[in-house]
Amino acid sequence: MSQQGYVATPPYSQAQPGMGGYPAGFGSSPAQPLYGHYGGQPQSFPTPLTGVMKPVSSPSGMPPPQVSSQYGSNVQQNGANPQRYPAPPSAAAPPYGQPPHSQYHSMAPQAPAPAQQLTNQMGSMNLGYGPGPMQSPQAPPTSPPAQQPFQTSPPPTMGHSTLGPPPTGPHSPQMAPPQLPLAGPSMRGPPPMGGTGRPFPGPPPPGAGGFQQPGPGAAGPPGYPQQPQGPFGGQMAGPGMAGPGMSGPFQGGAAQMAGPPQKKLDPDSIPSTTQVTEDDQAKRGGQVYTTNLRGQVPPLVTTDYTVQDQGNASPRFMRCTTYSFPCTADLAKQCQVPLGAIIKPFATVPKNETPLYVVNHGETGPIRCNRCKAYMCPNMQFIDGGRRYQCGFCNCVNEVPAFYFQHLDHMGRRVDLYERPELSLGSYEFEATLDYCKNNKPASPPAYIFMIDVSYANIKSGLVRLVCGELKTLLDNLPREDGAESSMVKVGFVTYNKILHFYNVKSALAQPQMMVVSDTAEMFVPLLDGFLVNFQESRAVINNLLDQIPDMFADTNESETVFAPVIQAGVEALKTAECSGKLFIFHSSIPTAEAPGKLKNRDDKKLINTEKEKTLFQPQKGVYEQLSKDCVSQGCSVDLFVFPSQYVDIATMGDVPTHTGGSIFKYSNFQVEMDGEHFLSDLRKDVEKAIGFDAIMRVRTSTGFRATNFFGAIHMNNTTDVEMAAVDCDKAVTVEFKHDDKLSEETGALMQCALLYTTVSGQRRLRIHNLSLNCSAQLSELYKSCETDALINFFAKSAYRAMLNQPLKTVREILVNQTAHMLACYRKNCASPSAASQLILPDAMKVFPVYLNSLLKTGPLVGSAELSTDDRAHQRLITTAMGVEDTQLLLYPRLVPLHNMDVASDVVPAPVRCSEERLTETGMFLLENGRSLFLWLGQACPPELVQSIFNVPSLAHMPADLRSLPVLDNPQSKKLRSIIDSLLDQRPSAMKLLIVKQKDRSEMLFRQHLVEDKGLHGGASYMDFLCYVHREIRQVLT
Ligand SMILES: [Zn+2]
Repeated sequence: MSQQGYVATPPYSQAQPGMGGYPAGFGSSPAQPLYGHYGGQPQSFPTPLTGVMKPVSSPSGMPPPQVSSQYGSNVQQNGANPQRYPAPPSAAAPPYGQPPHSQYHSMAPQAPAPAQQLTNQMGSMNLGYGPGPMQSPQAPPTSPPAQQPFQTSPPPTMGHSTLGPPPTGPHSPQMAPPQLPLAGPSMRGPPPMGGTGRPFPGPPPPGAGGFQQPGPGAAGPPGYPQQPQGPFGGQMAGPGMAGPGMSGPFQGGAAQMAGPPQKKLDPDSIPSTTQVTEDDQAKRGGQVYTTNLRGQVPPLVTTDYTVQDQGNASPRFMRCTTYSFPCTADLAKQCQVPLGAIIKPFATVPKNETPLYVVNHGETGPIRCNRCKAYMCPNMQFIDGGRRYQCGFCNCVNEVPAFYFQHLDHMGRRVDLYERPELSLGSYEFEATLDYCKNNKPASPPAYIFMIDVSYANIKSGLVRLVCGELKTLLDNLPREDGAESSMVKVGFVTYNKILHFYNVKSALAQPQMMVVSDTAEMFVPLLDGFLVNFQESRAVINNLLDQIPDMFADTNESETVFAPVIQAGVEALKTAECSGKLFIFHSSIPTAEAPGKLKNRDDKKLINTEKEKTLFQPQKGVYEQLSKDCVSQGCSVDLFVFPSQYVDIATMGDVPTHTGGSIFKYSNFQVEMDGEHFLSDLRKDVEKAIGFDAIMRVRTSTGFRATNFFGAIHMNNTTDVEMAAVDCDKAVTVEFKHDDKLSEETGALMQCALLYTTVSGQRRLRIHNLSLNCSAQLSELYKSCETDALINFFAKSAYRAMLNQPLKTVREILVNQTAHMLACYRKNCASPSAASQLILPDAMKVFPVYLNSLLKTGPLVGSAELSTDDRAHQRLITTAMGVEDTQLLLYPRLVPLHNMDVASDVVPAPVRCSEERLTETGMFLLENGRSLFLWLGQACPPELVQSIFNVPSLAHMPADLRSLPVLDNPQSKKLRSIIDSLLDQRPSAMKLLIVKQKDRSEMLFRQHLVEDKGLHGGASYMDFLCYVHREIRQVLT
């Protein structure tokens, strides 16, 4: 290593830990009171600014207020294009009526009338089984009298799937119910009801009136077993998971389930995820989803739709496990359906949807309820001629500040309703005042610090040269405010092995300067000026540095690294600069050098399937815990790119990233030729993505329930404030709600997510997302309004957290137990009486079992010594921050047949079920789950197809290490490459294409993603799991 040519200034004299010159207490104490109005004193509005609006300032390249904005001058729109898309064709009146001459009005969609929407919605709940008009009650043979069975004639009535009689109609193939051949005589009940040839009855009668299920009272029907403790609190009553196909971790008990099904079931007969997504796409795809109705269930995440905000947040920002909350805690406990919302505050909004408006309420800041601090939103009811408003969350009556006064129309609505985003939209932003800034000082633009491990492994693999080369162009794409010419994000550079090297890249320098810090125990930043710079200004010096770094360390023999001091250095640098930011760390090995945060190999496969397995996933405490707190209080997010050749203790190294809104990217046995492009694509996406810093999120709710539990790459100092050093467009926080009182059907359940953050240009903003749900005393409403994709996101995150404290076996049992309870409760309370041999699933949850089974088979939960501990820990950590789209795809990959694709069409062929049975020897399939991408080639793949895709005459001629598809000028090649490109474009992380031939050894990697089949590392097939769940349900019901 050479430092020649660099000026090593004597920095060590200033090794004071706290970096002098800055106010004490700035972010240094995690116990520091939370800033701004979070939990602060009630705010008053002493000086009404009548008519005086602070104009939207654009100090940092923000576009001036749009002249064409449909809102007043106090409103600014993100992005350049204020145009909303054309109104949908419906002629029905808009929901609230609108003032004449309002621009907003003219562009507002004319939504279907509520009643019509309801009808549509109900129709969508009834895939194929809507009954005719309700008929005379049919006494259930075995129900306890208090159960109040469903007052309807024949089988399933409202929106559920039955596995019983054979297919009845062309529209319900997935529910075409064969009799489940459950082993054991007790499982063979009487023939399923309905018999064959039951007519397909069509949609239910319009309106909700046909749904007359009286439902259980608050206390629940007698005889229904009371639930054990909440999720993961209790033990599964029944036997452990077992049964055909369940090996390894699922052993134990339930021997009676063993043995193959008595007759081969038609796999088409069990509920199909691909069918459900296809049906939703057919029904709702390509449509405009308007958010005007409370409790409306959005299209599936897999469906292609456009959102128009009419008072509730887009489902891109917030999705719920159910859109109808039960009125009482007892009902919630009885059904065990978790009440949750998955919030992705910075979700990417497609170009054809309106970006969020920015509202400025002037010097006194955003208007908020005096009592509960909720922000002005469509759920505030103006009264008293417009002089006061009642808060929809806490019912407190507040004075309207004079500057905000507006008259009400004859319907009691403000006449400026549609000129103010905060009164008419679900999502918008407020400009924050100084009160919302740390120490009442304006925020600064964030900084990105690139910290490159230059130890032997990274030099030898070529990684250092690769990163340095890429940064020279990548830094031109740092995130910027919409419309800004250049980014305000500053950059800095550190290299390290056992010691750290900081670089002065001030634009005035002819050469970069290196400063070395070898005392890693007391980390400090040896230079103040010239470390964090503007890339445009310092481009020449930075490029010079990036050219030199690979050569400087080319001969290094240093193989040891430090890690915690690297993060510490980054935090100190941001503290010094008084800004938030992100560290991009490119690291190779377990940090064994003598320094804080030193780690040792604690990987022990013998712990797998023991009580102590959980310890493999628990981070080492101490240094890293404190570092996370330091990072969060400074708004310092950490992204870790790790290139290990062996165990590196991801559980610990990933701890800071997963508490600071960061990401972890892992490239095992990295080789530039094989993995370079994959890594660079990840790096590009990561550097360029939309992001906010130094964020604090609060989820407020209307009375009767509250947010009690949060999952995500977050940090919590108390029970309500979700702190995120950064939050980007792919990060989601999953929130669980609990009752603390009764909810009212009339007022519903309101939630408001407020995110205070710093923009990439250093502005302090509040991003508000509002969502209103229905409440019902009928459990059937809850089941009807469930969303399986959101539910499985919740289950995955809660199970992955629970596995830190409980044996995996217990976690798996609780998952199955809770699933059985959810489904049994539906069966008992919402479905019409039917033979016990029928498995009856709520329509909105009918594919939940396949997702749950897939979750049980994921690396973290499966408990197999064949899997790397780091890989398992990695998946556990990244899943914690995933949104609904990501968990859906992860747990049910897309398997797309390509051999018959229509090259003339733009359409991607419809995916098929993830099972070996769907593969054909003559076929070619693409499989992706958001993390991995495979091209599978059948043994007998037609030579013409092979020729057109790979330019070789047969599979035998294909090079063994083919990493990408050759660019060929024929329709098949073009089509396939465009499918892959568009997939890669859509996903948050890059994926490396693996080309797999049938019966090759590498095929195992592919097959583990066929989630309907028996797991390679343990775990049941979907069919077997469904039988098992059915048996558990029956056990619950008896
Ligand atoms: Zn309030």
